[in-house]
Amino acid sequence: MINKKLEVSAIKDGTVIDHIPADHLFMVINILKLNEIDNTITFGTNFESKKLGRKAIIKLSDVFFKEKDINRIALFAPQAKLNIIKDYKVVEKKTVELPDEIFGIIRCVNPKCITNHEKIKTHFKVIDKQARMLLCHFCEKVTDPEKVDAL
Ligand SMILES: [Zn+2]
Repeated sequence: MINKKLEVSAIKDGTVIDHIPADHLFMVINILKLNEIDNTITFGTNFESKKLGRKAIIKLSDVFFKEKDINRIALFAPQAKLNIIKDYKVVEKKTVELPDEIFGIIRCVNPKCITNHEKIKTHFKVIDKQARMLLCHFCEKVTDPEKVDAL
């Protein structure tokens, strides 16, 4: 019953990110650079989810994200739900939306792309938000984020 407890345990102020696909939990942690913050972080994974099969949840005490920062996780957790907690109560619920452009996060699929050879940050235009298809700004190859390495 440890999992059950973790799922319901409350934080006073902060953000709860729910509905992260279980196999993308560590990707989301990387994208949000959670290894660089000193706040209390609780996460649990492999909870049952009707929508996702298995999901992960991250709870962050006293962390509130800017929209442009949190939207970066939409590449790997498009159904993520954010609960903003103030004084133990959910004061706001948010969803994430894939931005029009993605900087960094993943590699370009094209081995000949300049971003794979020089110190240039990858830059993609999102050409299909539903299918999550990304067009490389430099070589114009289409990359599927599920099939490439994260940076
Ligand atoms: Zn490229």
